[in-house]
Amino acid sequence: MRDNPKDIRNAIAARWPTSDDFYRERDDRTLRESPELTAYAGRPVEILISLSSAESPATQQAALVACNLAARWARNITVVMPNGTRILSDLNRRSYTYLAERIITEMHGADPFGRYRIVASESYLGAGEALRLFIGNWDLDTGRIRIQDDDFLVASTGEYAVGRRGQPFSPSEEQPAFAPASALAASLGVADLFKRAIGHPKEHWVATFNWNLIDQSLREKIGPSIGRFTNMPDIGKVLLAGVGAIGSSLAYMLDLAGATGKVALLDRDRVEASNLNRSLIFDVAHVLANATKTELTEEFLRSSRLSVDRLDGTWRENSATIAASNYDVWLSFTNEDGAWAQLPFQLPPVVIQGTTTSGWGFGAGRHIPRKEDCTLCRMPRPRAEFRGPCAEGDIAPVEPDTPIRASLPFLSAASAALVFAELLKLALPEMQRVPNEISGDLKTELAAVTSIRRLANPSCPGCRVVQSDLWQKRGGRGRFSDLSA
Ligand SMILES: [Zn+2]
Repeated sequence: MRDNPKDIRNAIAARWPTSDDFYRERDDRTLRESPELTAYAGRPVEILISLSSAESPATQQAALVACNLAARWARNITVVMPNGTRILSDLNRRSYTYLAERIITEMHGADPFGRYRIVASESYLGAGEALRLFIGNWDLDTGRIRIQDDDFLVASTGEYAVGRRGQPFSPSEEQPAFAPASALAASLGVADLFKRAIGHPKEHWVATFNWNLIDQSLREKIGPSIGRFTNMPDIGKVLLAGVGAIGSSLAYMLDLAGATGKVALLDRDRVEASNLNRSLIFDVAHVLANATKTELTEEFLRSSRLSVDRLDGTWRENSATIAASNYDVWLSFTNEDGAWAQLPFQLPPVVIQGTTTSGWGFGAGRHIPRKEDCTLCRMPRPRAEFRGPCAEGDIAPVEPDTPIRASLPFLSAASAALVFAELLKLALPEMQRVPNEISGDLKTELAAVTSIRRLANPSCPGCRVVQSDLWQKRGGRGRFSDLSA
């Protein structure tokens, strides 16, 4: 059924007779935070892809993330790009020829009722009332397409995610792209579109930024890149626990970057319409198929360079398999049964986690056993203000009848980009000196990013337990065990 467009159209019409039925179900979590979206989701949006860098990996990666993510809440989007822009072979998941083909396929998958179209830059008629997001490098001399005061631009260069309000961006020299920077820039660009769409005051729009993803700081200026990023990063053997909004978006980004290695996907849930609001992978055909998140993510990654295993069910049900497998890294996006409080006692290798808050916050954390704090230390306080990224409820203890929490579409992707950066940085010696707790907040203009290096706490039982000899035989077997020495 999933391969036949006519069957899908019929199934969509049966499941959601009107677009309102679809949006009510899909956008539920977003409307809890921003009820004004209903009135403004139809505002025209334009995403303009660079004339000069449209065929660079960084620009194509950012364009794919931005268009995909924007289509998860905005219902009227025009994508403007140079005519005949070919998709890079590393990003070609099907037999596409043009970048536009993948972009429009993913947008309609996210929202079959949306009004999405591609327009060639050459026939672009200029800004009307549309909210505009520019992607990639733009020189001052952009010909007919001029960046105006309210426009926002996102790009990346080296390890920097870049945002500019009403200004062009064109780095003096191209630096090799760090894929998480492209993904983060795109996520923040879509956040800015959302803020403008729902009528945030101008002083709360995302401010111009240079976000360095190595030390996770906002910089005045872009410095020279450390530049040791490969086109196809090897991530080793990774457990990806929780294939919800953050976990599936991370899988999308791993594919985008051409990552190699092994990923084991752990989850128990099936895809629901509300997942279409935040995940970069799940589409409407997946909801109709009523398939599990692990099945669909495995299917998505089939054309990637990663080899994929599935662990269906809960953490607890798979704990013996997890303990017996010598993963290099555990990525934890699930708090079922209070998993984060328990993690250190399972003697893990390096743990990386990602979070979104019920407001406008997003973040990521890294935990190197014996050196850095553990997930028990990092239990957010006050607990009630945070939740696991899978929106299964609050971090433990889980209250019965936990209300469904609000969740904004771009926060999960931003968190996934931060997790992705932490994952790739494990192979860089510099990372041993950099912060391991990172958070940003988009309620206002992203004036600051909080980044802290937290060390192991000798009075924490979770930090103490990994000092045991038994840890060497468990988490201590991974390729990053030297980081704990
Ligand atoms: Zn601890």
